Amino acid sequence: MGGKIKRLVGIVLLSLYPCWLWGDEVLPTPLEGRDYQALPNSRQIGAFLQRLADYSPKAELLTYGRSAGDRPLMALLLSNDSQFLRQGESAPGKLKVLLVGGQHGTEPSGSEALQSLARDIAWGSVPSVLEHLDLIVIPNSNPDGRDASRRVNAGGVNLSTDYVLLSQPETQALVRLLDRFRPHVLLDVHESAVLKKKSLGAQGYLTDFEAQFEFANHPNVAPELRLFAAHVFLPELLDTVNALGLPAQHYIGEITSIHQPITHGGISLRNLRNYAGMQGVFSFLVENRLDPPGDWPSWRNIQVRVAKQRICLLAFLEKLIEFRENLLRRIAHDLNHPNSTLVALRASYAPSPLQPKIKISLRRLESGERVTREFAYHGQIVAKEWVFRPKAYAITAHQRELAQLLDRHNIDYRRITHTQSARCRCQRIVKVKTRRWRQGVIVHQEVQVDMLEEVGQIRLKPGDLVIDFDQPKGSLAFLLLDPRSSTSMFHRPPYTAWLAEGKKHFGVPLW
Ligand SMILES: [Zn+2]
Repeated sequence: MGGKIKRLVGIVLLSLYPCWLWGDEVLPTPLEGRDYQALPNSRQIGAFLQRLADYSPKAELLTYGRSAGDRPLMALLLSNDSQFLRQGESAPGKLKVLLVGGQHGTEPSGSEALQSLARDIAWGSVPSVLEHLDLIVIPNSNPDGRDASRRVNAGGVNLSTDYVLLSQPETQALVRLLDRFRPHVLLDVHESAVLKKKSLGAQGYLTDFEAQFEFANHPNVAPELRLFAAHVFLPELLDTVNALGLPAQHYIGEITSIHQPITHGGISLRNLRNYAGMQGVFSFLVENRLDPPGDWPSWRNIQVRVAKQRICLLAFLEKLIEFRENLLRRIAHDLNHPNSTLVALRASYAPSPLQPKIKISLRRLESGERVTREFAYHGQIVAKEWVFRPKAYAITAHQRELAQLLDRHNIDYRRITHTQSARCRCQRIVKVKTRRWRQGVIVHQEVQVDMLEEVGQIRLKPGDLVIDFDQPKGSLAFLLLDPRSSTSMFHRPPYTAWLAEGKKHFGVPLW
């Protein structure tokens, strides 16, 4: 819809609803409309986003899929350029930024902060943002979880760690959106409870933080982006948030015991930050403090929580604007040199030689008193088992299921139409070990696979699949498919059961 028509519609509706004004007063978010005393549901959030799109010539609403519980998945496009609003293409020199809130249904303040920020940007009260950035805002990426006050969606799945299997309509839709819009930057917005009853709480402590940020830290994320994020952007961002009065730190991995070593955020490709980072998106996560139930002036202190997330979001956008040209250069470089063929199969945290200990501020559960405790610091990411990824990969069993998985990832493959032979380094599975461990309430499972490689020939038959790794998601495809990779699909059912000890593996590296 053209700007003029929209403004006309706005003026007509304005006369019907005199409380929504263009000037000083603005359309309240559903939460603001309830004076922060009760959370709105997904339908009310959707209606608010629709109103923003109806009244602002700078906003367009997009339904990009449906949830497992059949709720619409909505994204609000915000831009000064109609070209972006119509086709999602940014003008040269502009950064395209995707902001995702609410992947966990029990962390609502990101959704709320994104709604109020989107409103203020659409209304022009944060004027510089759209001069330099085009925004895709998804305030409520897990509407099922939001409406049921559950972390998971209606399928019972934690969406935030579903990016390898893409088992859910929400994550599938978000990957389609990533591929369609190809944003330069992504921010995944979360909250974290300071009270973990079953783990650290049982030892008498609460964590004590306000804001923490993590970047795409998987070792196969392009160094142009990863090292810039680690050594330039993150420190500057933390300084900015601190200067705004909110203590901010590099993300600390979940503390479940006072005796554990301290690490930073997850390295896996299962999360959106690293999944997008592997594709050259400059990706970050922000996590703010989720206060425990108490005697707060607003529902669960949501008014204060939203204000803190807004500070983080605005600081992030401000830094993007400041580093815009630098980032565009780095991202363009990464797109021209996609996917180094040297790939690390595994990565883990290890003790930092330069800093063996770290001091962390906690609070005593009983008294609320702040205490500083010293922990061992395992803050260094060590990448292991570097290999040259093969030219291509053949799939000689489970072709139907694997074709579906590749389709969900938008990874190209071809089907063999008549029998042919190919040079391979065929793999024989020697041993499969499944290791399970608990971290608080979460049970982790990792499969360790020992394999032998033998150079030879393989006969491919009609129906087999061949994935050429020389494609934008080539390294991602390799890491999903190779059973030795710490983020392969084989760590999760049903795929784990497909690994047969003592047999030739059905996935075959071609050279
Ligand atoms: Zn979360």
